[in-house]
Amino acid sequence: MIKSKLPHVGTTIFTQMSALASQCEAINLSQGFPDFDAPLALREALGAHAMAGHNQYAPMAGVLALREQIAAHVAARRAVECHPESEITVVPGATEGIFCAVMACVHPGDEVIIFDPCYDCYQPSIELAGGRAVHIPLNALDFSIDWQQVEDATNPRTRLIIINSPHNPSGSTLSSHDLLKLEQLAEKYDLLVISDEVYEHLVYDDQQHHSVLQLEGLRQRSFAMFSFGKTFSVTGWKTGYCIAPPALSAELRKVHQFVSFVAVTPVQMALADFMRDDPGYPATLADFYQGKRDLFCALLEDSRFSLKPSQGTYFQLLDYSAISTVRDAQLCEDWTRQYGVAAIPISVFYQEAPEDLHYLRFCFAKSDALLKQAAEILCRI
Ligand code: PMP
Ligand code: GLN
Repeated sequence: MIKSKLPHVGTTIFTQMSALASQCEAINLSQGFPDFDAPLALREALGAHAMAGHNQYAPMAGVLALREQIAAHVAARRAVECHPESEITVVPGATEGIFCAVMACVHPGDEVIIFDPCYDCYQPSIELAGGRAVHIPLNALDFSIDWQQVEDATNPRTRLIIINSPHNPSGSTLSSHDLLKLEQLAEKYDLLVISDEVYEHLVYDDQQHHSVLQLEGLRQRSFAMFSFGKTFSVTGWKTGYCIAPPALSAELRKVHQFVSFVAVTPVQMALADFMRDDPGYPATLADFYQGKRDLFCALLEDSRFSLKPSQGTYFQLLDYSAISTVRDAQLCEDWTRQYGVAAIPISVFYQEAPEDLHYLRFCFAKSDALLKQAAEILCRI
C-alpha cells in the first residue's frame, strides 16, 4: 500500500465547505471567490485569443507581453523596477508559485517560519520539501506579528519565512514597520522570504499595501507572489505571477518547469491585453470591496455576532462567542445544514488552535442581494 507523504492532510476546508453548501443549497460564503463575473473585455479577449489559434505552449516563464505589462504595473504602482525576462515568472496560480518557491529553497532539515492562522498550502509544501514548519501564533486580538517571538524562533536551521498580507483568514495587514522588522531579521539571519500578496489591491480605510518589493533588502531575498484570480475576479483561470531577483527566479523556474511547465497561453494573452487597455482597473478594487465589507458589517449590526471590520482581503471574521460555545468546525457544518449559510472555521489554519477560538470567516465578494440574504439569516441566529 502507498505510504502517505502527507498523513495529516485531508481534503481542503474550502472544497469541503463548498461541497456541503452545494449539497444543502446553502448560501456559500465559505470558499473565497466572487459570485459576479470578470470584466467583459477580459473574457472577450480570452475568447478572441483562443479563436485566433493561440492555443499551444507559452514560453516557460510566461508570455512576454504579459510579463511586460506586469513590470509596467509594478513600476507605476510602486516605483519599483523588475525585469520582465529575469525577474517575473507567470505561474498557474499563486498556489503553484508558492509550492515551487518552497521546493526551490527548502532543503531537508531546514526550518520555515509561518504564522498561525496560516493559509493552508504553506505547511504541506514545506513538508514535501523535507523541511519543518515552525508555527508562530499571530496576536490573538489583532492578528499582528510579534517580531520578538520571530527572532526567538530563529536559529541556524531557519531558511525561510512566509508572510501573507493582507492576511487570509483574518483580514489583517502588515505595516511598513512590520516589513522593516522583517528586513532586519532576514538580513541578520540570512533568511529567504516568500511574501504572499495575492490580495494586494484589497486594502481598506485608505491604507496603502506594503510590499516586500519596496524595501531593497527584502526585494533581494524575496519571492513576491500575486494572483490574477483575486485582482480580475477570475479565480478559475488559476494564473498568477512571482517577482524575485534573477538568482531566485532561476531556481523557482527549475521547479516550475517540471511541476506544470507553463501557465495557460490564451489566458496570459488576454490578461496582457486587459492590463494594457485598462491599467487603472486594479485601483478600483479597494473602494468596490470596501463598499461590500461596509454593507455586510452594517447589515450585521443588530446581530449577536461581534466584529472588527476587515482591513484587507475579501473576508470578514465574525466572533460568535455570544451565541455558542460549540467548536467552529462543528458550528460551520451545523449552520450550513440548519440555517443555509456556509462559512469557514478558522481553527483549521492553526497547528494548535486555541481552545477559546470563536471566529468564523465569511467571504463578502458577493452580490449585495446575496449579502443581504445571508445577513438576514445571520441576524436570526
Ligand atoms: N494565498 C492566499 C492567501 C490565498 O487566499 C489564495 C487563494 N485563494 C492563494 C494564495 C492562491 O491563489 P491562486 O488561486 O492564484 O492559486
Ligand atoms: N483562497 C481561497 C479561500 O481562502 C480558496 C482557494 C481554494 O479553494 N484552494 O477561500
